[in-house]
Amino acid sequence: MTKRIFRSMSLLAIIVLLAGTFVVMATLYGYATDIQQEEMSAQLRLASRGVEQSGASYLNDLDMGETRLTWIGENGTVLYDNMADAASMDNHRDREEFREALLDGYGESHRSSTTLAEKNIYLAQRLSDGTVLRIAATQDTIAQLSLGILLPVIMILIIALIISLLVAHRTSRKIVEPLNHLDLEHPLNNRVYEEITPLLSRIDGQRKQIDLQISEILEGEQMRREFSANVSHELKTPLHSIMGSAELLENGLVKEEDRSRFTGHIRKEAARLVSLIEDIIRLSQLDEGSELPMEPVDLYVLAEDAAEMLTVPAKEKNVTIQIHGESAEINGVPSLLREVIYNLCDNAVKYNVEGGRVDVTLTKDKESVLLTVADTGIGIPKEDQVRVFERFYRVDKAHSRNAGGTGLGLSIVKHAGKYHNAVISLESEINRGTTISVKFPVR
Ligand code: ADP
Repeated sequence: MTKRIFRSMSLLAIIVLLAGTFVVMATLYGYATDIQQEEMSAQLRLASRGVEQSGASYLNDLDMGETRLTWIGENGTVLYDNMADAASMDNHRDREEFREALLDGYGESHRSSTTLAEKNIYLAQRLSDGTVLRIAATQDTIAQLSLGILLPVIMILIIALIISLLVAHRTSRKIVEPLNHLDLEHPLNNRVYEEITPLLSRIDGQRKQIDLQISEILEGEQMRREFSANVSHELKTPLHSIMGSAELLENGLVKEEDRSRFTGHIRKEAARLVSLIEDIIRLSQLDEGSELPMEPVDLYVLAEDAAEMLTVPAKEKNVTIQIHGESAEINGVPSLLREVIYNLCDNAVKYNVEGGRVDVTLTKDKESVLLTVADTGIGIPKEDQVRVFERFYRVDKAHSRNAGGTGLGLSIVKHAGKYHNAVISLESEINRGTTISVKFPVR
């Protein structure tokens, strides 16, 4: 940063200096020329008057210093020159200032010397006898003048560069310092430069995103920990029950007529364990988030299969299962979709009343397929309605367990639905029944 500031400051200093020098020199040059010319014309007037009054003798006594004085005859012959031998000099009839003076009484001309390093100024005045008196002086050109002030300009340039470096160093430190003390924990609380507000807003946005991700990760971890604890507990209960019954049987403590009830109990608990483990495996598969192969699946066919599988438990409760609608195909994972429909229908039978109904309806439009499972069962209390989709959450633990529930059915429905981008809604009223709908988008 210092380097960049130094570079721009130095460049600025050099440009300002050069431009300044140029302007000052041009002004000075013009001014010097004016003064010199005025002096020369005064000298010329003086000399003219002298020559008019005293003739050539005046010139012989005259000390003009650096200034050259030439007296030219009417026909251009040089009559006198204070710096050269008049006789050996060229005829001056073609000189511009001479011709002008002859014509108008006064003439003036500027000529550069061959080297261009100098410029000659000529002023000429016609005297009353027709001769012309000319005065000439040399003046430095701008180039020469520039050469003369080169050294001071270079020195000023070096000083300017040193000052630039110091100022650049200080400035960049001053600019950077507040940036080094930015509070990145609270990006929007910084009041530093207006220019970096968009950057700070972006940092703030990213921070929020990271915070969200972290809290999601922590939440996920917490959920997994709770899930593992719940799993161990849920597995232990049927195992203890199996071990208890088996021990009684082993020690011959069960009466002959009760034996089949005990073995039946063991079988039922073992079946529960199997379905629990199947559910856990299914959920961890969904948790892993791995891609499962999708294919066209007809939900109507799956509903028919589920109804078929539930024939026995439905008959035991005298519950009628009816499927409405028509073939409704979506692109999905068959095993997950089967699970969704089976779990919903299973719950609709399990939590139904004697002689109740289960209606499975499939409707479709261009964008979606809607699966609705409605029962006339016991219903779910308002306060439990959001929680029934949590893992192992049951409204009535004993009822669920007796019915062979694992407490995982609806959380599998929720996850499998999410996997298919489906929207799930639940409506329920105590003692009237429950309706759960799953709306699958058709891709
Ligand atoms: P479970 O294996 O216990 O049935 P679920 O996750 O399928 O576990 O359901 C969670 C809880 O929601 C159940 O224990 C039950 O209390 C309640 N529930 C689910 N479906 C119904 C329904 N159709 N009618 C009444 N209650 C239901």
